[in-house]
Amino acid sequence: EKLVPDQTTRTVCGYCSTGCGLQVHLRDGVAINLSPAADYPVNLGMACPKGWEALSVLHSPDRASEPLWRNEAGELKPVSWDDALKTFCSRFQNIIREHGLDSVAFLSTGQIPTEEMVLLGMLTRFGMGWRHGDSNTRQCMATAAVAYKQSLGFDAPPYSYADFEESDLLIFVGANPCVGHPILWERVLRNQREAKIVVIDPRHTETAQAADLHLPLQPKSDLDLLYGLANLLIERGAVKQEYIDEHTNGFADFAEFVSAWPLARIVAATGLKAAEVEQLVEWIATSERVSFWWTMGVNQSYQGVRTAQSLINLALMTGNFGRPGTGANSITGQCNAMGSRLFSNTSALLGGRDFTKPEHRQQVAQILGIDETRIPHSSGYTYDQILEAVRRGEIRGLWIIATNTVHSWMQRDETRETLAKLDFLVVQDMYHTTETAQEADLLLPAAGWGEKEGTFINSERRFGLLKKVARAPGVALADSHIFRLISHYWGCEALLAPYDHPAKVFQLMKRLSQGMPCDITGIEDYAMLEQAGGIQWPLPAGSEPPAVERRLFADGKFFHADGRAKFLFDAPLPMPEPATDHYPLILLTGRGTVSQWHTQTRTAKSAVLRKLYPAGAYLEIHPRDARERGIQPLEKVEVSSRRGRVTVKAMITPTVGRGQVFMPMHYGETNVLTLPHFDPHSRQPSYKDCAVQVRRL
Ligand code: SF4
Repeated sequence: EKLVPDQTTRTVCGYCSTGCGLQVHLRDGVAINLSPAADYPVNLGMACPKGWEALSVLHSPDRASEPLWRNEAGELKPVSWDDALKTFCSRFQNIIREHGLDSVAFLSTGQIPTEEMVLLGMLTRFGMGWRHGDSNTRQCMATAAVAYKQSLGFDAPPYSYADFEESDLLIFVGANPCVGHPILWERVLRNQREAKIVVIDPRHTETAQAADLHLPLQPKSDLDLLYGLANLLIERGAVKQEYIDEHTNGFADFAEFVSAWPLARIVAATGLKAAEVEQLVEWIATSERVSFWWTMGVNQSYQGVRTAQSLINLALMTGNFGRPGTGANSITGQCNAMGSRLFSNTSALLGGRDFTKPEHRQQVAQILGIDETRIPHSSGYTYDQILEAVRRGEIRGLWIIATNTVHSWMQRDETRETLAKLDFLVVQDMYHTTETAQEADLLLPAAGWGEKEGTFINSERRFGLLKKVARAPGVALADSHIFRLISHYWGCEALLAPYDHPAKVFQLMKRLSQGMPCDITGIEDYAMLEQAGGIQWPLPAGSEPPAVERRLFADGKFFHADGRAKFLFDAPLPMPEPATDHYPLILLTGRGTVSQWHTQTRTAKSAVLRKLYPAGAYLEIHPRDARERGIQPLEKVEVSSRRGRVTVKAMITPTVGRGQVFMPMHYGETNVLTLPHFDPHSRQPSYKDCAVQVRRL
């Protein structure tokens, strides 16, 4: 029988950071289908295949529907919630008793609502007293967060999506929005200003193919190019000196530093043609509104923070900040990466504060009504440092929430061996079949997107409202419910007791944001968010009702104490693992398709999405590199690095340059090969520059 909906409600998508609005059609309170929301200011009636298929992945035999405990025979078997939570607390508490508070940690996610992040952050840091915990946003957004904070004084992507439509020159660096953010690319295509599009990327991506100018630079030579662009612009006098003088610090030192990058050095370092570089300089110099956009090609780099800051520097020196169609703009990855950056209590103290600042600790203690001594003085270990501590036996108990570490971290086989060293591994997830869940001693079944309420914060800083439109399977519970139960079993229930509904946590978030750059005290409640179609931060109490378009720094005031932005720079670093005779190709990794999300944990559950993407892992290789190795199209090849070897299909294509190969992140094989190395400021992994060899089987 065909079900006819009797009600419709609007929610936001739970995959990427675009934050599209979706109309969910319900029957008796349960979703039966959905369509993109035409009246939502983000997506204007559009959605990508993942959004269209968002409901189908909820119904899967792989859903974790009851707690599972690994028995003595090594099998995961069902247990009651009561037993699961008693075990959770007794095992972790025993480890802490024996080895101290530094022997436990948690790893969380950018995929759960902000309200749940707040509860988890409070529970772990202030309730259970854990010192170490990080989010998987370390893998995607840590670089942008640190770059903004150092340069502008706060982790503050300045733009609005309207800027895609209002720019005269859009420069995408290490970004492929056609695939990574397809609805944002649709916004670019709505630009009526005859804008030029430039793509700076080693790969001839879908976005590069649509660009007016593609600069296929050598991997990790972006800093040389960006410093060189700054120098050439200064040489031709194409800087806004008045803006620089009024709103920034450090330009004179920066100008002197980049003077060492004449055109010849840029060409030698990047492999680009002089005419291509000169063309870009000409366009930046003569365009009224220039916007710089970046994603993982910049962030996932051993020098990502300085690369992001070199884009910020270019925008500052050319006065491209705070006006329509301008900005140095990091596009986030996960649906709630921004929520994690500001409210997860991992790298930043609640509300985007700093654990190291006494006044920030005092503020949070006062708002929560807790003793200040319960707030740690540092953010603790980062993701890589947590895994390293597990490896050396210092951390013995780990709680992983809504992320698939074994698949997504580098050097997959060693990561699995690392987790096996733990005395106790708890995984909390929607699915019991992820590579990480398979390693768990205890699995806590969680409700997913669509099965609970809360807010996500998208790339343009918009709080979007998430609705409950489906029932979680079996006895799976919302993560927030699990956190509150744990607080009860642990003995710190008073801390979370006032927050028994996401709407109450949202009110707490407002108080935590007050006086900070992300102040949202002007958002009354969920009803106001619903009515407005989401609201961008900041919206302090007493401000005008929200406009659709809201960008930061229109007044030229940045978040450092003196109101000025900083020019920050460093010499480029050598690539840690360059190509050699034995490993002559550089492996690039990234998003391969609009139809799959990250490790495919959810999206592989949709038959439609599976059909839109090859089932097995593949490698893109340049025709001449393939010919030299005698490789035929779609033939099986072995790809090896110093970490391991995998067998994949060869896709012969000039999309990649000579000496480079590409593998999508969505397949487990890719991270068998990747090299664990990190940006020194953000500790973000550099996924896109390890040396490999490819040979016929
Ligand atoms: Fe929109 Fe991203 Fe969801 Fe696709 S995955 S519908 S682009 S929010």
